[in-house]
Amino acid sequence: MIPFNKPYLTGKELEYIKDAVLSGKISGNGIYTQKCNNFFEQKFGFKKALLTTSCTDALEMCAILADIKQGDEVIIPSYTFVSTALAFVRQGAKIVFVDSRADHPGIDEDKIEELITSKTKAIVPVHYAGVACDMDKIMYLANKYNLLVIEDAAQAIDSYYKGKPLGSIGHMAAFSFHETKNINSGEGGLLAINDDKFIKRSEIIWEKGTNRSEFFRGDVNKYGWVDTGSSFLPSEIIAAYLWAQLENLADIQKRRIEIWHHYFDGLSDWAISNNIKLPEIPTYATNNGHMFYMVCKSEDQRNKILSYLKENGVYAVFHYLSLHKSPYYNKKYKGIELSQSDRYTDCLLRLPFFYELKDGDINKIINLIKDMKL
Ligand SMILES: *Cc1c(COP(=O)(O)O)cnc(C)c1O
Repeated sequence: MIPFNKPYLTGKELEYIKDAVLSGKISGNGIYTQKCNNFFEQKFGFKKALLTTSCTDALEMCAILADIKQGDEVIIPSYTFVSTALAFVRQGAKIVFVDSRADHPGIDEDKIEELITSKTKAIVPVHYAGVACDMDKIMYLANKYNLLVIEDAAQAIDSYYKGKPLGSIGHMAAFSFHETKNINSGEGGLLAINDDKFIKRSEIIWEKGTNRSEFFRGDVNKYGWVDTGSSFLPSEIIAAYLWAQLENLADIQKRRIEIWHHYFDGLSDWAISNNIKLPEIPTYATNNGHMFYMVCKSEDQRNKILSYLKENGVYAVFHYLSLHKSPYYNKKYKGIELSQSDRYTDCLLRLPFFYELKDGDINKIINLIKDMKL
């Protein structure tokens, strides 16, 4: 059986966890948390990086920092994970869903402007599969209408737009270290802040509404409750695990990109002759080897391929039921039809993708697919 995902252990995780435990300081914001935060600030140029317990938490912090209130509108692609919208809905936002591009499941940048109203507060582009949205177009709109841009970079670690790291372009960004992501700590996330004016408050919201971070640095001589917030920071045990992963970032990325190309080269001709779409990477974007997907001709065809692979011991999956049609949001949704989003919901299929996936197994998957009678 070839699983869909298998979290990769670099080998140092348990050693660092043991070190964190024996240090006697295992709550948050200790040595390993600081190592990770510094790594992200230095490698990707984020002005402030704060580890969180999930990307969902990082997005909730963004919604608080953006001061989203009842009735504010936030523009989000419908084809994304629940948390992209949920974090803002919890603050009372009305979600305005945008369709995906015809050539890519990411947000259709050209359909954003028509959705902007006087109530719009923020745009939340999602870098689907780690492939950059066209950020120049999005930042242009943000400047023109005075909006915040919050990048959902959950899948986009070590990926770039015109040479700039994803997560460093918008006012804020959120990353995920869930076990299905390139770099993982089981559950885990990161808030990246790129606009100075949010830095001070981000530390307070992170630490249950207190100015504890300032106190630890010696900037103030006592700490107390100064704002809203929650317990968004992970324990040192999680940060220690993550540190072992970050030390191996380059190696992990290299192998994942190899796997991606192995699939792509193996399936290209087959895909063209069957009118099935493989991922396209725009020239302004890089590929960080987050996932390999294909877009089938119909829902029926997609489901047939999925069950055929399963019968032959390969766990492929589909994902993202358009959020505007979800049981939770569809009653509130009064917007337009989003035909591309629906198309990806029906026709997209993801193949097994993890660091330890062997070349032999990739060949087996490719050959199974090519041998299938469509
Ligand atoms: C994985 C993912 C999330 C959620 O990440 P968690 O760390 O599980 O909270 C949010 N948005 C996108 C696009 C994702 O892929």
